[in-house]
Amino acid sequence: MQSLRFKALEGLAGVDSTLTEHDGKITDVFGSNVFSGKVVREYLSDEAYKSLMNSVKNGTKLERKMSEQIASGMKAWAMKKGVTHYTHWFQPLTGTTAEKHDSFFTLKGDGTALETFDGDALVQQEPDASSFPNGGLRATFEARGYTAWDPSSPAFILEQGYGKTLCIPTIFVAYTGESLDYKAPLLKALAAMDKAAVDVCNYFDKNVTKVTGTLGWEQEYFLVDETMANARPDLIMTGRTVVGHAPSKGQQLEDHYFGAIPERAYAYMRDFEVESYKLGIPLRTRHNEVAPSQFECAPIFEEVNIAVDHNSLLMDVMNKVAKRHKLKVLLHEKPFAGINGSGKHNNWSMSTDTGVNLLAPGKTPKTNLMFLTFFVNTIKAVHDYADLMRAAIASPSNDFRLGANEAPPAIISVFTGKYLFDVLQEVKNRVNNKFDEQDEAILKLDLHRHIPELLLDNTDRNRTSPFAFTGNKFEFRAVGSSANCASAMTVLNTIMAKTLVDFKAEVDSLIEKGEKKEIAIMQTLRKYIVDSEKILFEGDGYSEEWEKEAERRGLPNVKTTPKALDAMITPKATKLYAETGVYNEKELHARHEILLEDYVKKVQIEARVIGDLATNTILPSAISYLNDLVTNINGLKGIGLGDESVKAQKQIAAKIAEHINVISENVQAMIEARKVTNKLTDSRQKAIDYCEKIKPYFDVIRYHSDKLEFLVDDKKWALPKYRELLFLR
Ligand code: ADP
Ligand code: MG
Repeated sequence: MQSLRFKALEGLAGVDSTLTEHDGKITDVFGSNVFSGKVVREYLSDEAYKSLMNSVKNGTKLERKMSEQIASGMKAWAMKKGVTHYTHWFQPLTGTTAEKHDSFFTLKGDGTALETFDGDALVQQEPDASSFPNGGLRATFEARGYTAWDPSSPAFILEQGYGKTLCIPTIFVAYTGESLDYKAPLLKALAAMDKAAVDVCNYFDKNVTKVTGTLGWEQEYFLVDETMANARPDLIMTGRTVVGHAPSKGQQLEDHYFGAIPERAYAYMRDFEVESYKLGIPLRTRHNEVAPSQFECAPIFEEVNIAVDHNSLLMDVMNKVAKRHKLKVLLHEKPFAGINGSGKHNNWSMSTDTGVNLLAPGKTPKTNLMFLTFFVNTIKAVHDYADLMRAAIASPSNDFRLGANEAPPAIISVFTGKYLFDVLQEVKNRVNNKFDEQDEAILKLDLHRHIPELLLDNTDRNRTSPFAFTGNKFEFRAVGSSANCASAMTVLNTIMAKTLVDFKAEVDSLIEKGEKKEIAIMQTLRKYIVDSEKILFEGDGYSEEWEKEAERRGLPNVKTTPKALDAMITPKATKLYAETGVYNEKELHARHEILLEDYVKKVQIEARVIGDLATNTILPSAISYLNDLVTNINGLKGIGLGDESVKAQKQIAAKIAEHINVISENVQAMIEARKVTNKLTDSRQKAIDYCEKIKPYFDVIRYHSDKLEFLVDDKKWALPKYRELLFLR
C-alpha cells in the first residue's frame, strides 16, 4: 500500500494556487463585521450610545436599561447581516479561544417562533465550562464560572461558510470572583497602568486624563501543505516535527527572506487578510521570513486590549482559512529543528488622551523630560521584574526557541541604542546628584531629532535583544508565536503601574522637602538609572560572552519553563499583584498551577507521539529495508560471491540494526521514566522531571531516527521529509 507520504507528494501536482477575487478597496470591507463606529451610532439611541462610549472610555458599569437597548441594537444589526446565533467569545487559559453558540431563535409559550437577544444575554452568560483549566479554583461540583461582557472590545460577526455568529468579547471568571482567563487580569493591569501613568503625566501636563497601552504584534508562522502535514502525526498532534533529517539545503542561502512570496502562500494571505479586515484587524504588512516556508504579518498598532483580541482572532482566522487552501498553518515556536523558529514581537508603548506617545522623544525640554521619565521607568520596571517578564513568555514550545541562537536568550536585558545609552550615562554621571539650571543642557538634547534618525535607521537595530527600544516604542521580542499576547502585556503593564506609583511617591517626597519639581524628577531618574544599569545591554545577545557577562552581572538566566514559572509566586510578585489589584494570591497560585499542568501535559503528549512514531512508523520502515539488505546479502553469497562483494551492504545493515536497537531501548526507558514521573503529585516537581528526565530522551531518539532516515531506502520512509515539507508548494 502506498504511504500517505507518497499520496501527498502526488497530490501536490494538482494544487490550485489561483487567487480568489477580491474587488474593491480594503476600506470597503474594513470593519464591516464589527459593531463599532458609525454602525453603533446608527443602531443605538443617543442615550444608549453615550452610555456605551462612556463605559468604553471610563470602564463605568452600564445600567440595565442601557444594556437592553444595546442588545437590541446589536441584534438588529446582526440579523440584518444574516446572523442566526450569538456567543460569548472568551480566552480561557487553554490558549485558544472559546465559543458556545446560542440561537436568537426561541419559541413562545403559544408556539410562536421568535428571535430574541436581551440585555441579560449580552451582559452575562454561564457557559457549561467546567472543564476549562482552573488550577483548583473551581471544583467541578461547585458553582460554575461565568462570562461577562467587555464593552471596551467591540462585538463582531464570525463567518464560517454561510454561517454567521455574533461574538461578544467577554471575560471569564469564577462565581467567587477569581479570573479564569487572559482578559480579566489584562484589563486590571491596563487600568492600574492608566491610573499610575496619568498621575505621572500630570507633572508635565494637567490635561491628561487617560493613558492607554498600545500594542502592535508581529505574527510569524509556517505554511505546510495540508495532505503532507496529515502524513506527519507529530505535526498534527504537537504542532512540531519531533523527527526529521536536516535537508541538504536549509536557510543558509537566505534566499527566502523578503523574497517574492510564493503563489500559493500569497493566495492564502490575501484570503485571510480579507477575513481579518472584515473583523477590523488592521493588518498592514506581509513578507517572507528567514526560514523556508516561514512568513510574517503585522497590523497597525491598537489599544492593548483590542490588539490582544485581534491577535487571538487572527490566529483562529488563519487556521480556518488555511483549510480552504489545503494548507496547514504552524504557529508553534519551533516546528522544525535546524532552522529558525517563530516569534511574536510585541511592540508596546503608552499613549495619552491628549495624543502623545509617551515613549516618543519630545521636541521641547519639558516633553523631553516626560519622555525620559517614561523611558527610564520602563527600564527600571523591566530590571526589577525581569524574572516575571521571563515567566510571562515561558511555555514548553517557546523553550525550544529562547536561547537557541536565533531568538533572544532567556536572559532579559534592555537595548536602548547608543544615543540614549549615552544620555543615560550623562544623567548618571552628574556629580553629587546635582541638577540645576544647567540641566537644560540635558533636557535640551535634541532627542526628537537624533533618536528617530539613529534608531529608525535599521543598521542601528539590535536584533538579538529580548526587549529593545525602537525609536518610539519598546519591542518585546521574546514572546512566542503561539502565545496569547495577554500574558506578556499583563506583566508589562502591571510592572509599569507599580514602578510609576513608586516613582511618583519618591518625587513627591523630594518636592515636599522643598526640591523643585524638575530637579526632583531628575534626581529620581538618576537613581533609577543607577539601580537598573545592569539590565542595559547593547551587544550581541546570542553570544556566549553575554551569557557569562550576564552571570557576572547577576541577571537571571532560567532556560526552562518549570523553573521560570517560579517567579510568578515569589513574595515580591505576590505583593506586586496585590498592590496593583491584578491577581490575588489565590489566583496567582491557580495560574501557576495551570501553567505547570499545561507544561506536563504538552511534554507528555510529545513523549507519547515520539514513542508511537518510533515504534509503529520509523522502526518498521527501517526493519523492512534491513530485511531487503539481508535478503540481498544472502542472495549474493548464494550465487557464490565472497564477503568482499557484500561489504558495504553489511556495514549499512549493521548501522541500521544499531540505530534500531538504540531507539527501541530509549523508547522503553522513556516509558518507564514516565511511569515514575506520573506518580508525582507535586506539579512543580512533576514538570521539572518531565523537563529534565523525560525530554532528554527526545533528543536521543531523534538523533538515531534522523540517522535512519538518511540510511533507509527513500521509498520505504513513510514520513514526509523536511525537504518536502519545507520546499514543495
Ligand atoms: P519597525 O520598523 O519597527 O518594524 P513599524 O512602524 O513597522 O516599525 O512597527 C512594527 C510594529 O510596531 C507594527 O505592528 C506597528 O504598528 C507597531 N507600532 C508602531 N508604533 C507603535 C506604538 N506607539 N505602540 C505600539 N506599537 C507600535
Ligand atoms: Mg520587529
